[in-house]
Amino acid sequence: MKTLDKKSLDKLIQSLKNEGYVTIGPLQKNGAIVFEEINGVKDLPAGYTDEQAAGKYRLNKTDSNLLFSYNVGPQSWKKFLFPTRLKLWSAQKNGKGFDIKHNGEAHKKFAFIGVRSCELSAILIQDKVFMNGSYTDSHYKAIRDNIFIVAVNCTKAGATCFCASMNTGPKALNGFDIAITEVSAGKEHYFTAEDGSAKGKKLLMALEIPAASPDQKKTAEEAVKAASEKMGRKLNTQGIREMLYKNFDHPVWEETAAKCLSCANCTLVCPTCFCSNVEDVTDLTGNHTERWREWDSCFNLEYSKVAGGNFRTSVKARYRQWMTHKLASWEEQFGTLGCVGCGRCITWCPVGLDITKQAADIRAAQRV
Ligand code: SF4
Ligand code: SF4
Repeated sequence: MKTLDKKSLDKLIQSLKNEGYVTIGPLQKNGAIVFEEINGVKDLPAGYTDEQAAGKYRLNKTDSNLLFSYNVGPQSWKKFLFPTRLKLWSAQKNGKGFDIKHNGEAHKKFAFIGVRSCELSAILIQDKVFMNGSYTDSHYKAIRDNIFIVAVNCTKAGATCFCASMNTGPKALNGFDIAITEVSAGKEHYFTAEDGSAKGKKLLMALEIPAASPDQKKTAEEAVKAASEKMGRKLNTQGIREMLYKNFDHPVWEETAAKCLSCANCTLVCPTCFCSNVEDVTDLTGNHTERWREWDSCFNLEYSKVAGGNFRTSVKARYRQWMTHKLASWEEQFGTLGCVGCGRCITWCPVGLDITKQAADIRAAQRV
């Protein structure tokens, strides 16, 4: 394990740029932490911290010099791997036929700086969806194969986070190239850094930085452990699949549906949700047409419209489907639950609905 100061962290970012990576990291923008291109440590949101609760998000500026003292914001890394809107192909009339052009955009090499442990797990979950044998999404794979990940272990627990319950955090265990922990102890401010891949190891070696001392390692480990103990939410996953299947008619679904706006915010902010719709757009001359893929949500009424009718017309059916998929049937499809406990769906639900509360309410008064 190595130790970095701000200067060497900046050097790490510059090295990634020199290797041709577009460096993406957290930025403070419009009152939230978002992910965009960064040019160095100077762009990171120093001193910002967030306040989160069900249906509430506030960013506050403090005098602290910490660069990663906030939890996850409204965006996740899926916006780079699975863009909100993507042109799949276009067709241009040529005489009596059409010239078809498939989306052949040159894929960028991204370095993600500041990926939290829950988000690493979300990327690993989306890999199962988008790189599933013969059903591989070529756009996703082209980007995924070239990503460099600098993870940041959380030393502050968010009020809506429950990664500890889902075994997805707050410490990054795999899926990264380098993982850092930010430590502020007295006048000291440093990062411990461990490699998780050969690429990460090579980059850390090239920085010529010192090894972390046993004290530095211990302080970093204790800070992450403290975050785990102070986690804002919990979700008991014991037998959750059977519990949800057996409580299909539980009154919780009706009570929740009475509040839910079916706005789809929860699915848009969720780092594991992957549904999309495909739309064809033709210009007025009829000479040019394009096929686009865009994010969709199981909360949209049209989502469940098929030939012969709609099989989920009520909000109750749509909320129940979303939550049961995340915490039950996802496991049958992909061998893991579809929730990593990031808490975004709780924070960004305009009416403050809370997946951990619905699950606890069902468990407290099980019907069977
Ligand atoms: S649970 Fe909340 S965020 Fe999700 S659709 Fe309902 S109101 Fe919108
Ligand atoms: S369901 Fe909610 S808490 Fe779970 S991964 Fe999605 S947004 Fe995060």
